[in-house]
Amino acid sequence: MALDPAIEVLDKRFYALVIHNAHIDHLWSGARWTEGPAYHPAGRYLLFSDIPNDRTLRYDELSGTVHVFEQPALNQNGHCLDLEGRVVSCEHRGRAVSRIGHDGRREVLADRFEGKRLNSPNDVVVHSDGGVWFTDPTYGIDSDYEGDRAESEIGASNVYRIDPDGSIAAVITDMVRPNGLAFSPDESILYVADTGVSHVGRACPPDIRAYPVAADGRTTAGGPFAYTTFATCDNGVFDGFRVDRAGNVWSSAGDGVHCFAPDGTLLGKIHLPEVVANVEFGGLKRNRLYICATTGLYAMYLNTAGCVPGVGPA
Ligand code: MG
Repeated sequence: MALDPAIEVLDKRFYALVIHNAHIDHLWSGARWTEGPAYHPAGRYLLFSDIPNDRTLRYDELSGTVHVFEQPALNQNGHCLDLEGRVVSCEHRGRAVSRIGHDGRREVLADRFEGKRLNSPNDVVVHSDGGVWFTDPTYGIDSDYEGDRAESEIGASNVYRIDPDGSIAAVITDMVRPNGLAFSPDESILYVADTGVSHVGRACPPDIRAYPVAADGRTTAGGPFAYTTFATCDNGVFDGFRVDRAGNVWSSAGDGVHCFAPDGTLLGKIHLPEVVANVEFGGLKRNRLYICATTGLYAMYLNTAGCVPGVGPA
């Protein structure tokens, strides 16, 4: 019994999080750029985006097959489930955050801020109070590859919160290109990745920031600029990530998946042959990490489990 050679242990705490005879499953290939995975436990499937091909794909956990879920798909990127199990989507080309209702219809949750069109919502998470938090960088309007090329009307890339009453507020306004985001298990911390290195180089380090969340859960504590740097990427950038029930952060990176303890220590890596953009915990026990890596979808069973979005630890 030996660890899969793809697993690199950098801190002995990582041994307790991996399974010693589990291996990486290469589930599917054929995308241009995979991102935005969201696991639907009742349906036993994973939705994920193939952004440049303008389609959302569906991996069936029981049959192991991948089919097109939606195409065209408004160049959707990030997905998550809301508190009622409805799929919430970030649309590059729609320049909106939308939701698929129980009747199957698309409902726009937000497409403007102060009268101006959003840039191209990238990633989304739902708080247990029903608030929808999302990032709005420009990747979907920078070119025609992942959306429709356009100028930013807002002129900034912010993190927003949509209140259950439909109102929208800018909660973080000091980032260059906010990207992935996730709450800690107790929702006291909002982690947000900044991938602004794509536009301003090393003036914007490829970090995950930790913002304290205000007691009412509606904004960040201490204002929009109060944060600590949680981790800095040593290979590529952190794009999307998820938090497990113990508060460990499992993030995408250029060489695979990086796992950080709640104190920010890099515990270990899962090396992948392709650049990783996002991850998601799935399986009925939430102990299978699905990995969106450029052209392919991969997975690996772990000795931990993800938090149920908006609900907390599984
Ligand atoms: Mg992203």
